Amino acid sequence: MGKYVLDEEWGTKYPNFKKAEFKCPCGKCNGYGDGIASSLLVTLQKLRDKHGKLQITSGYRCASHNKAVGGSTNSKHMKGQAADFYLDGFNNQSKRVDVINELKDTEYYNYSYCNVNGNHPNMGNVVHVDTKLVDPDEDTAYKTFVKDLQVAIGANPDGIAGPETLSKTPTISTSTGWNHKAVKPLQVYLQSLGYDLGECGVDGKFGKDMKACIKKYQKDVGLASKYQDGIVTAKMYTWKKLLKLD
Ligand SMILES: [Zn+2]
Ligand SMILES: [Zn+2]
Repeated sequence: MGKYVLDEEWGTKYPNFKKAEFKCPCGKCNGYGDGIASSLLVTLQKLRDKHGKLQITSGYRCASHNKAVGGSTNSKHMKGQAADFYLDGFNNQSKRVDVINELKDTEYYNYSYCNVNGNHPNMGNVVHVDTKLVDPDEDTAYKTFVKDLQVAIGANPDGIAGPETLSKTPTISTSTGWNHKAVKPLQVYLQSLGYDLGECGVDGKFGKDMKACIKKYQKDVGLASKYQDGIVTAKMYTWKKLLKLD
């Protein structure tokens, strides 16, 4: 789990890709910068599953290699979030455009490009895609949390947190709302983030262990010390942080 692909995930979680395929070819840098984005590999693996053989023609580029190949000055290739690739049929422009449209429907899509007009000097018949830098596992856990919470509080369960969801969040503490239906999704989510729920685990009850856990969360997300009180309310920012509305 992480924003960047772990060594053991190559060939397993992303069965059709090897790290070396994404290596900067300059021979002077560490080859991968901070790493190759998990969101990029999720996206490419989906294409591979559907279309078969996929060849990476450019993955990570250090700044000097990016400059040497005429990449844009803020290219995501330099962040491990972009790749150029070739699929069977890409000699036809229409296939490249089809795949770009398909990419636009994927979760972590940010931008794509193909040399539709044939006037880019270095692009040839490949497609460039770049993706947002997110941890896909964390993202999945977050979306599940939002949906389960919405069900628990009677908000529209669309999995997207907004003002309506926030307005319906309850105040939860050891004395108020301690057995609210929202406690369980909260526990599941905190556990997915690596928080220790203590002996009680996911039990749907907000006890002392949960209070300590929330205090730690409040500290970790940078709330002022006066708000590190172990109480989950919208007014005091904790729900906002949990729902990523802050
Ligand atoms: Zn390099
Ligand atoms: Zn590119």
